[in-house]
Amino acid sequence: MSLLSVDGITLQYRTGKHSFTAAYRVSFSVKDGDRFIILGPSGCGKSSILKAIGGYLKPVEGKILLNGKHIDSPGPDRVFVFQEFDQLLPWKTVRDNIVFALTASHKFARREAEQRAATFIEKVDLTKFAGSYPHTLSGGMKQRVAIARAMAMGPEILLMDEPFAALDALTRAKMQDELLQLCVESNFTVLFVTHSIPEAIRLGTRILLLSPQPGRVKAEVESEGADPARIHEMLFDGDMKGGNMHV
Ligand code: ADP
Ligand code: MG
Repeated sequence: MSLLSVDGITLQYRTGKHSFTAAYRVSFSVKDGDRFIILGPSGCGKSSILKAIGGYLKPVEGKILLNGKHIDSPGPDRVFVFQEFDQLLPWKTVRDNIVFALTASHKFARREAEQRAATFIEKVDLTKFAGSYPHTLSGGMKQRVAIARAMAMGPEILLMDEPFAALDALTRAKMQDELLQLCVESNFTVLFVTHSIPEAIRLGTRILLLSPQPGRVKAEVESEGADPARIHEMLFDGDMKGGNMHV
């Protein structure tokens, strides 16, 4: 059985009398330990799909199952990491940002939350900065705190929405390596959204290709040995001008 099963979901936004379809009959399934990538151009509905899995947006058709159970509301079994750097509470230290999230989820008592915070801060190599405030950290470091916090929550699946898109190229490459290492050593299941073909190939085990608006599944491919040019072709049906994708 797959851990997460997304079965024919259509996602719409309503504004007054109008409705706008962001994703159309999208299906895929994520197995335990997968690093599953959703790849597609801007505006194809990637974030909307993650929102639906998070329980924040209800599909107008289709269903989403986690461990065989319907998702209809947010829960600590699904934790997000976003692109923005303002995910951390500026008035709390690195350590307290994590401890606060863990205790607020009611999954962990204070003592256990503190232990988990220390463990995951160590994993992302920020032990020296545990007592620092977010504004004193670089963008990459803040993102490492957000990742440590998400992992410390012990979710069934980590939902990552273009978490490295705002980082410079070198930091981004380093973060990709670190995430990969963390996922492999802790066997995390990750659903990772990106519009970068190289990032998808580098990080993923499987890649779901989505068409431009509204997002529909074009194909699902293995990352290993995947050819960037071929993926670009599959996304845009050979239209090499297509979209804003980096190859
Ligand atoms: P992506 O993450 O792939 O860039 P999104 O899921 O953010 O795409 O958006 C898909 C489409 O849905 C876009 O055209 C966007 O403008 C539209 N959209 C996103 N959020 C809303 C909203 N809250 N209300 C109306 N339209 C939205
Ligand atoms: Mg998005």
